Amino acid sequence: MEYAVISDVHGNLEALDAVLEDISAGGAGGRGAKMKILFLGDAVGYGPDPNACVDAIRRHAFQGVAGNHDWAVLGLTDETCFNPNARAAISWTDGVLTPGSRAALEALPLVKQLTEDGIFLVHGSPYEPEQWHYLLYFSEAQVNFEHFKQKICLIGHSHLPFVMERVPTGEITASKGQKGVKLDESCRYIINAGSVGQPRDGDPRACYLLLSDEEARFVRVPYDIRTTQEKMSAAGLPLPLIERLARGI
Ligand code: ZN
Repeated sequence: MEYAVISDVHGNLEALDAVLEDISAGGAGGRGAKMKILFLGDAVGYGPDPNACVDAIRRHAFQGVAGNHDWAVLGLTDETCFNPNARAAISWTDGVLTPGSRAALEALPLVKQLTEDGIFLVHGSPYEPEQWHYLLYFSEAQVNFEHFKQKICLIGHSHLPFVMERVPTGEITASKGQKGVKLDESCRYIINAGSVGQPRDGDPRACYLLLSDEEARFVRVPYDIRTTQEKMSAAGLPLPLIERLARGI
């Protein structure tokens, strides 16, 4: 089992292209072009290239699930739970999204189980996935470990990469950041793949995850942030969304 896992692209084509190139080049020890890609939701929202991102994800991702921004643009989730800037970006995205992109987003399920590999995919949390809960704390992880059967649950949503490990006795530990985590045969995991198109952990580089039977490893890829920001300005997207890309917050 060997996957490249991408999440929260948010219409940022420069970041997505850089990540796809890194994956296919076998960057950071990957297996390159042959590696299957898993997508954890939020193809659109915030960024200036929703259609191109949906199209690239549709072509490259082996399996994927929908995110809350994808659902918001499709009118499937309540927009009032988004902050004003996110809402403005969602309504801008709604205005430019093609019927083809809409259909591709509609085809994404809320959860996906890869039974053979022991992997569960969801954007927010295995518990009530349609409520888009954030899963950040041990208390939340404890509840959520009961809501999937597989060894590994892959999530996105918070844009914060981490690995939570649950040992057979029930104790949970977490590791964040850049380095890889060795996966133990007897443990179960909730892993956040971080964000390709809008990292929020203070590192503005695009983030993705390499996952094998032995290891989960985060990869950071620099991309042309300036170009994305210029496109966002030209599209009239909110300034705070433009500025945050350079700071990775
Ligand atoms: Zn997101």
